[in-house]
This record gives sequence, structure tokens and C-alpha cells, in this order.
Amino acid sequence: EAKRSGRNRACYFLPAMHRQVEERVMIQQGISTAIAENELYLEYQPIVHLQKNRVIGAEALLRWHHPKRGRLGPETFIPVIEESDQIGDLTVWIIETVAAELRHLPVQKDGIKLSINISSAILNKPELAQQVNDALLKVEAPDHRLCLEITETSLMTDIDNTLPLLQQWKAAGYSIWIDDFGTGYSSLSYLARLPIDGVKIDRSFILDFDNSKPIIEAIIALADTMNLLTVSEGIETPEQQKSLIRLGCDFAQGYLYSEPLLIGLLQEKLELQALREARQTLKFSPRR
Ligand code: C2E
Ligand code: MG
Ligand code: MG
Ligand code: MG
Repeated sequence: EAKRSGRNRACYFLPAMHRQVEERVMIQQGISTAIAENELYLEYQPIVHLQKNRVIGAEALLRWHHPKRGRLGPETFIPVIEESDQIGDLTVWIIETVAAELRHLPVQKDGIKLSINISSAILNKPELAQQVNDALLKVEAPDHRLCLEITETSLMTDIDNTLPLLQQWKAAGYSIWIDDFGTGYSSLSYLARLPIDGVKIDRSFILDFDNSKPIIEAIIALADTMNLLTVSEGIETPEQQKSLIRLGCDFAQGYLYSEPLLIGLLQEKLELQALREARQTLKFSPRR
């Protein structure tokens, strides 16, 4: 009886498992042609200075325009690619593309920064870390305008190997941010030793603001005493915005300000911002 139901269960699950395997193969085979055929592209989500309400940077987010499947979001394909070494080539492509697109943005005296997500799969494999390290040192952050985002969980899993990498990247002029902060288990003694610029407070805390307020407050206070900056992720309402300003968070990102944008649209937004600010300066300068 057990055997029969076991076999039934196998029959029941097989088609679904089969589809999953097919999906993986489709993604892993597709990704190298995707790079060659320009099916991959980046969108940039603005990061805003909360007090000044002004765009100071943007995070690069990967999309795949698949010939058969249409637009794919990163969460459908990055985890699959992370299982193979292809995540190395992909990350190099992202680094080179962001460095090139940075040059399209208007030159301002406080030039805006672009952020790149570095996968945990990179940090935890020496050959991939080396490959990405080479790419980062080769593109050289123009005027120190590139940031790297590394999730808290991936930082803490292999801190002894990660620390020297971070130190090299920091020395090469990259800013380093901890992504999805608050969801992992940072040891506070490590946090103090890491060459980081700031933390991005995970969207889950903002989503559940009323219950999470004490945690958000504690993260901002901790960051303050350690001289770190803070970004809140996933701001969707003016109420969240007001509360975060009150709590002293530095920057924010979320649909309230903007969805991720193609580089051309980000460029326009920044040009408009520059115009607006120039007009304001004129208005306030003494006449005659
Ligand atoms: P993440 O780095 O935490 O990126 C923020 C995600 O939150 C993005 O989703 C963004 O579109 C979304 N988001 C921003 N504001 C809001 C909001 O107000 N409400 C809601 N509901 N969502 C918001 P996306 O683009 O789907 O990226 C998801 C994750 O995929 C990223 O999380 C990141 O971990 C990963 N990812 C994206 N691009 C790359 C990449 O180039 N390389 C690597 N390694 N990972 C990437
Ligand atoms: Mg990120
Ligand atoms: Mg994040
Ligand atoms: Mg997140």
C-alpha cells in the first residue's frame, strides 16, 4: 500500500518537476546568448535624499527580454544562474554596462552614484570572486561614482574571505552598502570591521512599518553611532516618507519616488532636476 501510494505520488509530481528542470535548462542555456544578443538590460531605480527630496543615485536592476517568454524579472532567473559559474560572466557584463551607462548621465558637481548588486554566489567562490575583482579594478569607478550592494546574509557566511575583497574594492574607490539589512544575522563586532558606507533597511520593515518601527529606529541609531548612512527600501506612501524623515533616515528608494527606469528616462529626470535647481538658485540670488 505504501509502495503504491509512493508510486502514485511520484506520478503526480513528475510533470511539475520535469517542467522545473526544463525551466532551469532553458535559463542556463539561454543566458550566454542573452548577453550576446542584447536581450539583457538594466533599469535604474532612483535613490532620493529624504530631507532634500532630490535624486542622489540609482540602483541598477537586471531584466531579461526573453524572445519567447517576454520580460523576465531577476527573481525568476538570477537564482538559477547563481547555481552555475555563469553568474561570473553575467556580473562582469553588469559592471561594464553600468560603468558605460554612468557616462550618459549629466555631469553635476555632486555627480550621482549608480549601485550594482553583487551576488552571494560570487563572494563564496574564489574563482568567481577573482573574475569580478578583475572587472571591478579594470573599469575603475569614474570619480568614485559606483557603489556595490552586498546582502547581509552573503557577507556573514564567509567573512574571512569576503573582508579582503571588500577592502580592495573600497580602496579602488567603490562605496559599499549592505543590502536587505536586518534580515540576516550580522555580528556587531564584524559590522564595525567592515569597510562599508551604509546599510539599506530591508523593505519588509517598511512594509510593516507600525510593528517594525522600533527595529527601524534601532538600525538608524546603530548606523549613526558607527558613522554609516541609511537607505530605506520600498517606500510607497507619504506617511512612510514622513516617519522616516522624523527617524533621521538619510535616503530612500521606492515606488513613491519612482519605479526602476531605463537609462534614458533616468537621464531626463536628472536633467530636469538640474534645471529646477538652477532656477531656484537664480530666484534666490540678489537681483541687479
Ligand atoms: P534588491 O536589491 O533588494 O532590489 C530592490 C527590489 O525591490 C527591486 O526588485 C525593486 O524593483 C523592488 N522595489 C523597489 N521599490 C519598491 C516598492 O516601493 N515596492 C515594491 N513592492 N518593490 C519595490 P527587482 O528589480 O525585482 O529585484 C529583486 C532582487 O533581484 C533585488 O533585490 C536583487 O537582490 C536581485 N537583483 C536585481 N538585479 C540584480 C543584479 O543585477 N545582480 C544581482 N546579483 N542581483 C540582482
Ligand atoms: Mg539591491
Ligand atoms: Mg535591497
Ligand atoms: Mg530587498
